[in-house]
Amino acid sequence: MEALTWHGEQDVRVDEVPKPEVVNPSDAVIEITATAICGSDLHLYNGYMPGMREGDVLGHEPMGEVVEVGDEVETLEVGDRVVVPFTIGCGSCWFCGEDMYSLCDNSNPNAEVARKAMGHSPAGLLGFSHLLGGYAGGQAEYLRVPYADVGPVKIESDLPDEQVLFLSDIFPTGYMAAENAEIEPEDTVAVWGCGPVGQFAIQSAWMLGANRVIAIDRIQERLDMASSHGDAETINFEHEDVYDRLMEMTGDRGPDRCIDAVGTEAHGTGLKGVTEKVKQEMHLQDDRVHVLRQAIKCCRKGGTISVPGVYLREGDNVPLGPMMNKALTIKTGQTHVQRYLDPLLEKIEDGEIDPSFVISHEEPLTSGPELYDTFNRKDDECIKVMLTP
Ligand code: NAD
Ligand code: ZN
Repeated sequence: MEALTWHGEQDVRVDEVPKPEVVNPSDAVIEITATAICGSDLHLYNGYMPGMREGDVLGHEPMGEVVEVGDEVETLEVGDRVVVPFTIGCGSCWFCGEDMYSLCDNSNPNAEVARKAMGHSPAGLLGFSHLLGGYAGGQAEYLRVPYADVGPVKIESDLPDEQVLFLSDIFPTGYMAAENAEIEPEDTVAVWGCGPVGQFAIQSAWMLGANRVIAIDRIQERLDMASSHGDAETINFEHEDVYDRLMEMTGDRGPDRCIDAVGTEAHGTGLKGVTEKVKQEMHLQDDRVHVLRQAIKCCRKGGTISVPGVYLREGDNVPLGPMMNKALTIKTGQTHVQRYLDPLLEKIEDGEIDPSFVISHEEPLTSGPELYDTFNRKDDECIKVMLTP
């Protein structure tokens, strides 16, 4: 079958690889009908994620039709249409029992390595590094789905793929980011990053009762989407000083809740577009932007910072002093996708949201290598890429 594979920094190829099969009795295999490229894939693409191997199959936002099930699978049958979460949960450990699937104790076969680095291992993730399980991903014609009774959500209505695909990751991720921000009525919520995750964080902040949403980015079409579709006020950090502008907009108080939907680097853009002032203010030790620092500085005293953006390194120069003295709460984590599947599918079915608004590019899987490049450079007004095998 054809699949998008990793061959080193900024080298994604279409390769012929063996079609996956049921390996464990709790597995299913699905034939992919739609799959997407995520901001998290860019960490792998740009070589920031350790533990990648040549030929790894990429992709963690897939959906499709079940074509094979293992003997122990009870909830799925051949022919079912499913969306697959990127987080792999065994369903039986303490963390899965507490609905914290991205912290599953059993789904990372390389847990010992992760444990050495972090003290404990998070869950295995589809289409990620070998440090997080080395599971082949879903930018392919077929995918093996481990623990098939715990992950996939069945789509029984005739909603098109475009509307349900993002249950695999970015809609739940934006939603959990807003939940983690502990939004209360009257709150002003600032969202850094107007990529797909930021867009869903904006939508979700409104759903959870925000009074005001302010979106920050430098890419005009993303800011435009945040304001036209997301009803947010916007700040272009290339043209305006984010701290000064936020203080002005909030009567010097700062936003009550801040969401960092950017993470460890400004993807692919390096420092292009980041002003000297921002660089100095963020005390950049290397050439990567650090939004969390800025959020800590801007957040109102006693406020909350939610971090769906992925950070990959230790340290990252987090200002603990200001965080402590301003009494801030910081919440973060990979999304517990399984927790949100049913309630968010209901919102889509009820017409409360149509997640397809983020799609800017819909192309065949074989265009993947080009589109990784386009999405990475944020060229061609690219916001979200959906691929069809
Ligand atoms: P993306 O690359 O499309 O979007 C990132 C946006 O941040 C871009 O629009 C970029 O211009 C903007 N940006 C860069 N520097 C900035 C700065 N200094 N201030 C404000 N904005 C800035 O990626 P995405 O798909 O939206 O993902 C965003 C982040 O969320 C990534 O780190 C990704 O890994 C992470 N993510 C986390 C989870 C999770 O489970 N926690 C799931 C999916 C994605
Ligand atoms: Zn993702």
